Amino acid sequence: MDDESFALSGFDTLAVRAGNYRSEQGEHSEALFLTSSFVFASAAEAAARFGGTEKGNIYSRFTNPTVRGFEERLAALEGGERAVATSSGMAAILAMVLGLLKAGDHVLASQSLFGTTNVLLEKYAAKFGINTTFVPLSDVSAWAQAMTPATRLLFVETPSNPLGEIADISALAEIAHAQGALLAVDNCFCTPALQRPLALGADLVIHSATKYLDGQGRCLGGAVVGPTDLLEEIYGVVRTCGPSMSPFNAWVFLKGLETLRLRMEAHSRSALQLAQWLSQQTSIAKVHYCGLPTHPQHDLVKRQQRGFGGVLSLELAGGRDAAWAFIDATEVMSITANLGDCKTTITHPASTTHGRLSPEAKAAAGISEGLIRIAVGLEDIDDLIADCQRGLAAL
Ligand SMILES: *Cc1c(COP(=O)(O)O)cnc(C)c1O
Repeated sequence: MDDESFALSGFDTLAVRAGNYRSEQGEHSEALFLTSSFVFASAAEAAARFGGTEKGNIYSRFTNPTVRGFEERLAALEGGERAVATSSGMAAILAMVLGLLKAGDHVLASQSLFGTTNVLLEKYAAKFGINTTFVPLSDVSAWAQAMTPATRLLFVETPSNPLGEIADISALAEIAHAQGALLAVDNCFCTPALQRPLALGADLVIHSATKYLDGQGRCLGGAVVGPTDLLEEIYGVVRTCGPSMSPFNAWVFLKGLETLRLRMEAHSRSALQLAQWLSQQTSIAKVHYCGLPTHPQHDLVKRQQRGFGGVLSLELAGGRDAAWAFIDATEVMSITANLGDCKTTITHPASTTHGRLSPEAKAAAGISEGLIRIAVGLEDIDDLIADCQRGLAAL
């Protein structure tokens, strides 16, 4: 098989060509190796592959050329040595925790995390003696103060969901490295098209490929990207525990990566236009979007990101009743909790994605009852503005 990647360098070139394993059939589009296992030429070859003395495919839980193609393409785009693909974004986080942490280790995580990540750390990791302290995401000194001698991992999502708060990745990397801890960044909202955490000093990048890497809402998947030594531990977890990416999903994500930058730029452009329009409406209490000059960390965002991303949120004074009335009056946007799709989605975080949080945790994460999240898709901006006008008219 040919590997084209050696001659590549630019982001857009890598996005369409890295990790393209061409089989002897000479296909131009990446082949989908939809097979659970691989055949050996002889008993001796089988023994050599299992024994690790000969490289090659064995079984798709841990070796599949389509999955490997996706891993190599994503690693190239993030500027990482290696990526390991997983069955979902949550599986990527779990594989990282199982691979790199042990009982007695301490984790520092941002308060405003994807809700399920919160549960993974607070409920399940804690069962195995890995405890987490949650700190305000954008307050660098709070991170420094929360470090303990047992702190081994700092975990942050930036921009945060759904308020678009920004963490200073370089500053957090310095805090982590000062005592030999690792910094992992969930880069789901920006993708490498808009933000490359490894270049800013982070050790690991987490992805939910389910979102923008796919971009069309078809498949679940995830990945961890970083240096070879750490990724070898994470690969061991995936190989042994089995949260592996399906070859079919890897093929969909390979195709998604080809258009990633173009899509992220279009999402960002429309989200900025919608955020600007929303912030001019007097009936809206607040608009949260890191692309607005009124955003408290707008300067940091401009240094750290190449674009502002597709997710914004708005706050209505009338609480849950107002939020639900707005959402129910829209006709174009899909009422769904997913994001990172060509189709714009609208969500009420307090009763869906963040519904499992206690009232105190919701308050700490800034999830009010009047908050609505919009993940701006690729429809015409005028149609999205008209949809928001319908929402406002229903109040
Ligand atoms: C969706 C999401 C996840 C989890 O990914 P799944 O693919 O749904 O398991 C993790 N982090 C962020 C920021 C997300 O939006």
